[in-house]
Amino acid sequence: MALSPFAIVALVLIFVRAIAELWLSRLNQRHVRVHANEVPLIFHEMVDEPTYRRSVNYTLAKSRFGEIVTVFDAALLIGLLFGGVLPWAFEKFMAAFGISDWAMAGFLFAFGIALSIISLPFAWYAQFKLEDRFGFNTTTMKTWALDRVKGFLLAVLLGFPLLVLVLKLIEWTGPNWWIWAAVLVIAFQLLLMLIAPAVIMPLFNKFTPLPEGSTLRERLFALAKRTDFPTRSIEVMDGSKRSHHSNAFFTGFGRFRKIVLFDTLVSQLAEPELESVLAHEIGHYKKRHVLKSLAVSIVGVFVGFAAVAWLARQQWFYRAFGFEHHAGFAAANIVPAMLLFALLAGTISFWFSPLIHLWSRRFEYEADAFARESIGDAQPLVQALRRLTEKNLSNLTPHPLYSRFYYSHPTLLERERALLSR
Ligand SMILES: [Zn+2]
Repeated sequence: MALSPFAIVALVLIFVRAIAELWLSRLNQRHVRVHANEVPLIFHEMVDEPTYRRSVNYTLAKSRFGEIVTVFDAALLIGLLFGGVLPWAFEKFMAAFGISDWAMAGFLFAFGIALSIISLPFAWYAQFKLEDRFGFNTTTMKTWALDRVKGFLLAVLLGFPLLVLVLKLIEWTGPNWWIWAAVLVIAFQLLLMLIAPAVIMPLFNKFTPLPEGSTLRERLFALAKRTDFPTRSIEVMDGSKRSHHSNAFFTGFGRFRKIVLFDTLVSQLAEPELESVLAHEIGHYKKRHVLKSLAVSIVGVFVGFAAVAWLARQQWFYRAFGFEHHAGFAAANIVPAMLLFALLAGTISFWFSPLIHLWSRRFEYEADAFARESIGDAQPLVQALRRLTEKNLSNLTPHPLYSRFYYSHPTLLERERALLSR
């Protein structure tokens, strides 16, 4: 098969991205190894020698595994795009189920499920080999399998009908379908954010309100009140069911809002430290980071659908990957464009990740500063960050370029410096 000019561009984009990822990974590994022999002076009072060694090994192991995934993903993508399997399966689907919205939604859905099945061995290895080797894994085979089944059922119940509706909109609204589709998807996302804490998250975890009268509860509610953060409940989630890693977040809107602390976090931190972590989370809310991120993702959905609508009108785009033009049924050209866009978007968006992370790191600094102001002291948060870095075996010495590219949070040193400077 002779490749069209655009197919060659796509191939180059895939290669360049994979090479960039592998190069960044190697760069970071080398940087970690240079510092591996002894605990850097600046961390002396924070981690002991054995913990530091484990964090180095954990970083290197994750990094090597990531390289295998990168190579596999790139090979799979090239195979899918240039092996002819996609147009072949698409035509087969149409022949079997007719040219209808249901058939095409079924095709996209089946493809998505097939991709997630292909990635299962990697997810399994990451959890039961890699995480397990460093003592983080607490997931049982049963929990892991059940998580997958629940995820699949949610996709059938929520994802598939949404897909059908988006395709129906093409029929109902004509050339401007993409505006309607974007509005629908955004409305769906908002609804999901609203109901997730009440309906979806309890499918995966148990949430227990902090016991009435406990000193921790009093302390955290006092903080919420002091910072004027409307919350009705602070709950502890059984994160230890899957992993020793720890986290905290808040979720939902209005009266559905709740603050969630992982049980692992509660057991790892002292009360003043927990308070500072919560203050940081409240900072995200107070500084309107949630709204700002939402606004950006809304713009993203519109841009994505506009791109698909435009690409679906360019025969050179889907023909480059072996799809035929279907006259008379718009969705039959839009669906291949959607699929190809979904597969190729990452090769472009990858290059924007440093920008997006720059933005999200700024949010983290703001939330840290908010926590310092609301507690009146930087020390509890500094202690909390140190403890969490140690417990999670986070990489203490990432290469600066690597962290610029991939880190949504500033490194421990950067955060400490900002917290302690005035
Ligand atoms: Zn944060």
